[in-house]
Amino acid sequence: MNTEEILKEIAEQTAECMLCKLHYSRKKAVPGSGSPRTSIMFIGESPGFHENQQGLPFVGAAGKFLDELLEIANLSREEVFITNVVKCRPPGNRDPHVEELEACKPYLERQINAINPDVIVTLGRISMSYFVTNGKISSIHGRKFWSNGRMIVPMYHPAAALHQPSLKDLVKADFSRLPALIKESQETRKSNPNLSTTDKVEDQDEANDDGKTEQLSLF
Ligand code: URA
Repeated sequence: MNTEEILKEIAEQTAECMLCKLHYSRKKAVPGSGSPRTSIMFIGESPGFHENQQGLPFVGAAGKFLDELLEIANLSREEVFITNVVKCRPPGNRDPHVEELEACKPYLERQINAINPDVIVTLGRISMSYFVTNGKISSIHGRKFWSNGRMIVPMYHPAAALHQPSLKDLVKADFSRLPALIKESQETRKSNPNLSTTDKVEDQDEANDDGKTEQLSLF
């Protein structure tokens, strides 16, 4: 199966998925949208009210700000892939439960493997913790990590910046670095052909200020 076919299959499967109880309140699953041939994936937390209605990621207020941020990075929705760690809306926009994250993980894993992006941007704490354990978003936002041969860049969730306007400029500055980070990841991957099967490269960004941040190798 090619990437398009895999993404389509995942979309069909999530529409009928009953692996966790989020399906009881699902109007539409939100498998993700964008280009299957992109070098960058954005991974948020879970669909909200509007996403559940429309079946598309980030279509509410946070999505509007995400569009602004993408523009700062010279990117458009059509050329990136945007998804969430959980594909169905948790009632009342609560945090997804551990069993819901676990149930949904294989869908995200297949999407990442199929798209094979050079860079994964995690949006918010829950998505970040898939790849970086013990990380504090306030100290690691905008930095690069490596997980299974891919560059991971944790970012603040766009909704966090809407609730806390002082974060807006920080998030904008982080997004403005993305074109350079994509280029760097592409060059690193090209010159390290075995990277995709290894967990780490030495060139970890400025390292972690508390020394405790670890990388996960889930994917
Ligand atoms: N917040 C998310 O994390 N994802 C969405 O799709 C919308 C809002």
